[in-house]
Amino acid sequence: MKKPFYKRWWFWAVVAFVVIGAVGSSLEAGQEPAQSPAPTVEITSPPTPTPTPTPTPTPEPEPTASPAPEPEAAEALVWIPQTGSKYHSSPDCSNMKDPAQVTLSQAEALGYEPCKRCFG
Ligand SMILES: [Zn+2]
Repeated sequence: MKKPFYKRWWFWAVVAFVVIGAVGSSLEAGQEPAQSPAPTVEITSPPTPTPTPTPTPTPEPEPTASPAPEPEAAEALVWIPQTGSKYHSSPDCSNMKDPAQVTLSQAEALGYEPCKRCFG
């Protein structure tokens, strides 16, 4: 009849060896930081290495002002009278009284038509 493995001497030898080894290593690892003095941060600024010079590409010429169409803000402004159906380029046209200044597209959206005197 064979002995169970846990009754063999070498089993316990191995267990003891493993346990001692594990405890010992854990103790060593745990104690080492506490024993070591506060690490004096010694900052010796190393000479900043000069960055490898990247080949500077030839600067592309700045694109000149693009001839893009003017934005809405620059839309032509016209004058619409209080009464009437024409919009004018001049507020003094047709003896308007208190004309309102709107954009040309707004005037057309409101149903106004160009004045034949201003907009020939
Ligand atoms: Zn007019």
